[in-house]
Amino acid sequence: MSADLKVQIAIVGGGIAGLWLLNRLNQAGYDSILIEKNALGGGQTLASQGIIHGGLKYALDGNLSPASSAIADMPGRWRACLKGDGELDLQGCQVLSSHFYMWSSGSYRSRLKAFLGSKALRGRIDALQPAQYPAFFQDTGEHKVKGTVYQLTDFVVDTPSLLATLAAPWRDRLFQCRDIQLSGGEGNNSGAELTLDTGESSLTLRAARVILCAGEGNEALLADWQHPYTLTPPSMQRRSLHMVTVKVTHPAPPYMHCIGDSFGMTPRLTVTAHPCKESNGSQWVWYLGGELAESGVQRSEQDQQAFARQELQSLFPWIDFSQSVWSSFFVNRAEPRVTDQQRPDNAYIEACGDVLVCWPTKLTLCPNLGDAAVAMLDEQGLIGEDDSRRTLKTLNELLSTPDVAISPWETLR
Ligand code: FAD
Repeated sequence: MSADLKVQIAIVGGGIAGLWLLNRLNQAGYDSILIEKNALGGGQTLASQGIIHGGLKYALDGNLSPASSAIADMPGRWRACLKGDGELDLQGCQVLSSHFYMWSSGSYRSRLKAFLGSKALRGRIDALQPAQYPAFFQDTGEHKVKGTVYQLTDFVVDTPSLLATLAAPWRDRLFQCRDIQLSGGEGNNSGAELTLDTGESSLTLRAARVILCAGEGNEALLADWQHPYTLTPPSMQRRSLHMVTVKVTHPAPPYMHCIGDSFGMTPRLTVTAHPCKESNGSQWVWYLGGELAESGVQRSEQDQQAFARQELQSLFPWIDFSQSVWSSFFVNRAEPRVTDQQRPDNAYIEACGDVLVCWPTKLTLCPNLGDAAVAMLDEQGLIGEDDSRRTLKTLNELLSTPDVAISPWETLR
């Protein structure tokens, strides 16, 4: 069976980028739907640490680079959404920690310490007195916490509840289809086409704009795109990480970057903690990233877990890891290709004919992505398509609604 359907905007990929845009664009009056291959957030989004950050970690080399400046107002935008006062209503999203900390165990006189206390960073970081330390650093027994603990403007969201909150208002515009083929889209407002193979039928969906938000999947979609030869689609780069999870029984979950004495773009360890399904409240999945995950791509799973264990025991000697359960897995960050494997500064969106290609590069930058997408469509003077009611009715009859995927640590041993 074949049905010819029309919609103004078809978003491909249901991670944070696609769901954020589905909300922003429908609110801005663009008639939009989203098609996901598997389950929502099952790519990078649920594998992320959920830190909404103000970019300070990108200043750890001693420079306030464009990346650290562009991102500075993102935590404020997100906080407004979480309160119900922002561009999107994220009141249903759970906040795991309303603060994020940076612990510099370095010496009193280090250059880094002087930088962190400098005028340039005022308002973005506060050095805490021991009495103000988070619960994790209280009750350390005979072990004294050395160095300085800073409080950042950053905070941590629970990504499954974030995705569920973004999906809830638009469930009749969310579809699952495992096989999607892109064609056309040469520009001049002629629109692009998606062929959706449901197994039993093949549907042709014409959209004035297709927005690719498929993360790592953008690469294959672009490679298979039957497009006019005059278009040059953007290319993608991957940055691999070897993340570690450890189930720890301890009542105070940690949320911090651990850094030493030296300047460097990546903290030695970034740790977040996530609710454990079968927990009584004192067991958490600690999720370990930072330099440990970057250098860990060279290590086997066994070596990476042994290395992580050593790191945690030396950083947090007051915690008992003897009963902890360790796991690790490899995951890629998908980003637009930039020179020298540098990190992109902003959310990326580029028009290639009638197809817009997005990589938010960070969860944090979604408000920035939303602004850029709305501005781009407004500037292109997109004219409203016919009412998409027939399209929605047909798609809802033939395709199922994708659920939120399971966090990676729920599927590990
Ligand atoms: P994804 O989340 O990968 O979603 C893409 C979706 O597209 C998936 O659901 C996938 O199934 C679907 N898809 C793929 N191919 C197709 C297809 N052919 N058709 C239809 N659908 C398709 N950022 C932060 O700001 N803070 C952090 O703390 C943070 N931590 C991170 C930790 C790790 C380990 C990683 C990997 C990333 C982290 N990031 C963080 C970055 C952030 O997670 C990503 O930038 C963001 O999640 C990307 O979202 P996305 O929607 O573009 O992609």
